[in-house]
Amino acid sequence: MRTVETVKALRAAVARARSSGARIGFVPTMGFLHDGHLALIDEAKRRAQFVVLSIFVNPLQFAPTEDLARYPRDPAGDGAKAAAHGVDVLFTPSVQEMYPRETRVEVAPRALHARWEGAVRPGHFAGVLTVVAKLLSIVQPDVTVFGQKDVQQATLVRAMAEDLNFPGEIIVAPTTREADGLAMSSRNSYLAPAERKSATVLSRALFAMRDAFKRGEHRAEALLSTGRAAIDSEPGVSIDYLAVADPATLEPVEEAAPGSVAMVAARVGKTRLIDNVILGQ
Ligand code: AMP
Repeated sequence: MRTVETVKALRAAVARARSSGARIGFVPTMGFLHDGHLALIDEAKRRAQFVVLSIFVNPLQFAPTEDLARYPRDPAGDGAKAAAHGVDVLFTPSVQEMYPRETRVEVAPRALHARWEGAVRPGHFAGVLTVVAKLLSIVQPDVTVFGQKDVQQATLVRAMAEDLNFPGEIIVAPTTREADGLAMSSRNSYLAPAERKSATVLSRALFAMRDAFKRGEHRAEALLSTGRAAIDSEPGVSIDYLAVADPATLEPVEEAAPGSVAMVAARVGKTRLIDNVILGQ
């Protein structure tokens, strides 16, 4: 595995691989790699012969009040994990390399930006889409793999690729969970042991909603009551939002259908966590 820090070196490495006939796979991350990230890399390896992993904690997607400065980092551990999973090039640009000057142009979502994560984190998705647009135009991958864990992000990235005619395929891979159901996340490292235990209520609530759907309960309000009851029974966990939404638009639905997304954001102590499941799966 090669590690490169500049756009120029990354482009040269990708150009060499492409000229030898390889399909290029890409997995963008903010690092502090866990098994969820590694599953995305494995998926990219199945779909491409040459895989680029980027690790870049993107300041543009953090509000001034958020956790940019204390976002967890582990460059040595990340390098070892990436190499063990067959990453061909690890791209670790500096902030200066990605944003050598104040950005004059950004990619901002229209519909969908104001709901859910966008409502709680103004400007977040413009930051995400801008960096993803930059990374896609730097790497020019044939296939890019995102995680279902961040369902609104995945939906917006797909929308950007469609609306702006980005070449290359966008794949959304399933959420990887801890044995007790907690969705893996770099931010889980913020949780104190008691909070880590409480945090399992989020997946339990979503699984209860999925089970109720399977038993034939399709009214969103009833599914939401099931989920809410589970989360409210856990002291120290407060809901930001709990919703049943259409998978394409993420608009709330009144009647759930197979493919509808049950999603939650909640604070466990000071840590904000998100998770979702697809109903009928
Ligand atoms: P992050 O490093 O948190 O920005 O995430 C980088 C990519 O990994 C995004 O596409 C996420 O959706 C994805 N991801 C994060 N956690 C998980 C997980 N538990 N399972 C699957 N994908 C994940």
